[in-house]
Amino acid sequence: MAHTQTSTERIIPIHAQAPPKPAPGAPCNGCGVCCLFEPCPLGVLASRKRSGACHLLQWDAAHQRYHCGAVAHAATLPWPVAALWRRLALRWIAAGAGCDSTLETFPSP
Ligand code: SF4
Ligand code: SF4
Repeated sequence: MAHTQTSTERIIPIHAQAPPKPAPGAPCNGCGVCCLFEPCPLGVLASRKRSGACHLLQWDAAHQRYHCGAVAHAATLPWPVAALWRRLALRWIAAGAGCDSTLETFPSP
């Protein structure tokens, strides 16, 4: 479990082996905090909610980090929905980019 702190404070369940959240701008390490806190625009579509963990977030036990399952999820959708989905995923998921989350985290008591 971890707390996140912005204008609102919330307890989010997070995998005990997840890496600590890096500072904004540092390479994304798959800590999962951003996607556990609230879905991105594509995640809102997939999860049908604007708050809480995205349904597409997946824990990768082999690499001890979270992954976005959006592109893989496209394989389960009918074309042309899948084609649109892939375009949105590639637009919203900044694979290899720096962390764009300003959430602050600290362990739950
Ligand atoms: S973007 Fe930042 S908060 Fe989100 S998974 Fe990557 S490192 Fe974690
Ligand atoms: S990046 Fe992927 S897992 Fe994270 S909120 Fe967006 S769709 Fe969900």
